[in-house]
Amino acid sequence: MEVTISNIRKEFDRFPALNDVSLKIASGELIALLGPSGSGKTTLLRLIAGLDFPTDGKIFFGEEDASHRSVQERNVGFVFQHYALFRHMTVAENISFGLKVRPSSARPPKAEIRRRVLELLDMVQLGGLEKRYPHQLSGGQRQRVALARAMAIEPHILLLDEPFGALDAKVRKELRRWLREFHDRTGHTTVFVTHDQEEALELADRVVVMSQGRIEQVGSADDVYDRPGSPFVFSFIGESSQLPIEVKGGTVLFQGQPIGISEAEEGAGELFFRPEDVVLVDAPDALFGKVTACRRLAGTRIAEIDIANDGHAPYHVEVEVPLHAPVELRSELRFRPTRWKIFRK
Ligand code: ATP
Repeated sequence: MEVTISNIRKEFDRFPALNDVSLKIASGELIALLGPSGSGKTTLLRLIAGLDFPTDGKIFFGEEDASHRSVQERNVGFVFQHYALFRHMTVAENISFGLKVRPSSARPPKAEIRRRVLELLDMVQLGGLEKRYPHQLSGGQRQRVALARAMAIEPHILLLDEPFGALDAKVRKELRRWLREFHDRTGHTTVFVTHDQEEALELADRVVVMSQGRIEQVGSADDVYDRPGSPFVFSFIGESSQLPIEVKGGTVLFQGQPIGISEAEEGAGELFFRPEDVVLVDAPDALFGKVTACRRLAGTRIAEIDIANDGHAPYHVEVEVPLHAPVELRSELRFRPTRWKIFRK
């Protein structure tokens, strides 16, 4: 099912939680809503679900305007962070709940419900556990039951709000891989909310980066990491440093001095670069500062550098240094960005 979100605004007591949000979700796509706390992710998910209604704007399911349709009419499946399984029901009863509560005219026959439950259990790799109660399952297993329960109603779209938030890092990773495979097998249009960028970048076909009730950028993991479209996205996704610069005669100047890189557009701006996109140099036209810390980060080593700022607090930047040649604390390091982006003021 294709979903089109068109110029949505959502106010709570005049506070705009979402402001002019538009997004087209293709049928079968796996989309992540990523952003800091309070950026509007859950609000957007609730509007798609029909748990709440927009102040302005429309939501289409396929060609149909679903803006005022109820949750049931939209036929969406949900999974929330705290897998609220019914504690007094077995796994099988939990999964079949959504079908059993349907009015008799829309309810599948008993045997069909049972067949579907077993099929779903198989799909979430929990075959044989249908008689267990939630407290007899691990966190990851409970989360998979929650997914099976959401799928049982054959939803048009699956909505997941921080589905793995309450689980430990290892289980999260396993479930992440599992969800990707599950999605590829079932082909459901899926939207999930996360504030974990690794999760979003690894799992989603496209990532929707949100900030302050607006969409900052929509794109693949490569798009948002390699080609961030705004200062917010550059600093929110991955690690980065920023410095105020000026471009004169094609040369980038920092504190009035050339730093060995050039740019076509003249004028003042903010230079952004990632720690891995620098080269250490022994040249006068470069950025330089004192190493204040050096730390090992998985397969790399990162040096933290303070760049003097004429009596003000120094600029703090981070650069990757060779793994097997750690730099000395308080030594001076000279470097140039090899890839960068300048955002104009
Ligand atoms: P988090 O990652 O912390 O869950 P989020 O990105 O999902 O954050 P939302 O829950 O969508 O953010 O909230 C967006 C903004 O709308 C916040 O400022 C929040 O305080 C406000 N908000 C959300 N729901 C309501 C409500 N029912 N009444 C008033 N304000 C609300």
